[in-house]
Amino acid sequence: MFPRIKDELYKWYSVNKRDLPWRNDRSPYKIWLSEVILQQTRVQQGISYYLRFLERFPDVYSLARADEQEVLYFWQGLGYYSRARNLHFAANQIVHNYNGLFPETQKDLMNLKGVGEYTAAAIASIVFNEPIAVVDGNVFRVLSRLFDINIPINNSEGKKAFRQKANELLDKQQPGLFNEALMEFGALQCKVKPDCHSCPMQPDCQAFNSGKTAELPFKNAIKPRVKRFLHFLLLQHNGRVFLTKRTENDIWKNLFQPLLIETGSADVLAPETFRRKLKLKEVQIRYLCRYEHFLTHRHLVTCFYEGVTKELVKYPHGQWVATDNRGDLPIPRLIEKFFEQYTTTQY
Ligand code: SF4
Repeated sequence: MFPRIKDELYKWYSVNKRDLPWRNDRSPYKIWLSEVILQQTRVQQGISYYLRFLERFPDVYSLARADEQEVLYFWQGLGYYSRARNLHFAANQIVHNYNGLFPETQKDLMNLKGVGEYTAAAIASIVFNEPIAVVDGNVFRVLSRLFDINIPINNSEGKKAFRQKANELLDKQQPGLFNEALMEFGALQCKVKPDCHSCPMQPDCQAFNSGKTAELPFKNAIKPRVKRFLHFLLLQHNGRVFLTKRTENDIWKNLFQPLLIETGSADVLAPETFRRKLKLKEVQIRYLCRYEHFLTHRHLVTCFYEGVTKELVKYPHGQWVATDNRGDLPIPRLIEKFFEQYTTTQY
């Protein structure tokens, strides 16, 4: 059965594969960059970021030389900023520890910061032809359905079993082509709502033949997101606003935001609370709006306030910037959305 699946897969891929910018050049730098961008981002959104990032940082040397703040700025809006910090760190590892050359095996690639099993397997197989399977969400879905595998895909045992299956199926002669074709098949044909009627795998698909496509892949119950309540005070003084850098090991590390008080509820804070906790004296404060924002493991309930001050206060890691020109300070997407709504109407 395996040879027939492979033949069908390659035929399907040659007709259906998308023309994506990283498919025109198999350099490890470009494959690495595209894989990191696509880890948590949809392809359509990822393309523009990929092209813009590549224009500014065309190779591993330019990325290594750059300031981390600039790298974060070019990542702004993609979220999961640790990916950008790790890219920058790993670029320096490649330049300084590997003479600018990427390691060529999955095992060695995993020495680079932020490069896990999946990304390392993708680079090793696509660029260096290492016979190793790449297993992403698309591959879980396809394999679970083709072979009617009921093991949960969101625990380590399940992941191990799927990796084993993918490696059994792998075309050892053309591992990169096989991996890309299987992932593409999952992304376009065997989607969450699969297009079984035009699928060439249908005769061999166990889930289709037993009517179980909607039940697979199987997942264990997911833990609920942790709820956090963030109250942002946008201090302004003569057309400038005050932003501080997040330095803690937490979401949005090294990105800039207004002053913040985190509490245990979404109740609007009294102006006095800001004055007391942030040691502000002459400041007029009013509540503006509330947004909810979802990250993979967190549900952020955010309230925004505006504070007009006569004094140019100072806090560590903070700076005053023009309201309508925040330069190239990297800012979380949520804060950017707030500025888009309020810069023209409120100031
Ligand atoms: Fe996926 Fe349906 Fe094809 Fe099976 S028949 S591989 S479920 S698209």
